[in-house]
Amino acid sequence: MDSLYLQAWKEGLLTARIEESRALLADCTLCPRRCGVDRLAGELGVCQTGTLAEIASYGPHFGEESVLVGEHGSGTIFFCGCSLTCLFCQNYDISHPVAGSCEAVDAARLGNIMVELQHQGCHNINLVTPSHVIPQILASLPCAIDSGLTVPLVYNCSGYEEIESLKLLEGIVDIYMPDFKFWKGESAKKYAHAADYPEKARAACIEMQRQVGDLKINEEGLAERGLMVRHLLMPHGQEQSREILRFLAESISRNCFVNIMDQYRPCGKIRDFPELQETIAPEDYQAALDMAAEFGLNRLDVKDFGMLMRNLFRT
Ligand code: SF4
Repeated sequence: MDSLYLQAWKEGLLTARIEESRALLADCTLCPRRCGVDRLAGELGVCQTGTLAEIASYGPHFGEESVLVGEHGSGTIFFCGCSLTCLFCQNYDISHPVAGSCEAVDAARLGNIMVELQHQGCHNINLVTPSHVIPQILASLPCAIDSGLTVPLVYNCSGYEEIESLKLLEGIVDIYMPDFKFWKGESAKKYAHAADYPEKARAACIEMQRQVGDLKINEEGLAERGLMVRHLLMPHGQEQSREILRFLAESISRNCFVNIMDQYRPCGKIRDFPELQETIAPEDYQAALDMAAEFGLNRLDVKDFGMLMRNLFRT
């Protein structure tokens, strides 16, 4: 299956989207924060990112979902800054970077990084926290395509998305991977200053499913196209997990590919929130798996520990 962006480039769709998305930077409404700043003139909004995308690191990653990792890894590119800014962020130093800790990349450099990851054998390009740099990602693709990029593009996001921005990616992104974190607006407000997160995440999942459908996995066990949803279990979050899993089953698809993640650990700026200073108990993880089964969600990411160990000790 050819990656979608290749066809979009041939048909001229990608060129149109590059121009359309860049114009948004002048009065930025790319994400639900709708800051209205002129990023082309150097003004910064909540994401603290200007005209150029900034990256913290890139490389083959073996800790992602098994359908992305395969034998040679998922080609992750970690963008600095974030529009959601959860105070418990597990990558707090990347989402809230200090000045000078990130590399600003122009379109050619970002495209070359994608091709370098493909040359390293990565099975896909995994764009981590991409929502605030959609125009910059789109602008990098012609250079990457000219240099031979063919692997699927993965949009690995927080779920806090603006539908108009997702529409710019239609026919270009192959795999969407939002993390649905909060069902209650009061939790999203308290922990991420984003009371509208639940409604935005629900709408985003529906739009992503409309664009790419259920996840398709090839004969080698690798994801090629579709929606896969992450759900990070939160301490004391069982009730919200239940509603999120119910929503995925009833409003997205019972074939929705879901990764229920139990790796929450106390991180970031949670000193004033004792309820977040816990980890997820094995029985809470099992309860979430049981809920998924109850709602008929049976395409769950299963960690291949044999492969993980082989990858850990590879030379
Ligand atoms: S992408 Fe950044 S500047 Fe634009 S609306 Fe979102 S947070 Fe604000």
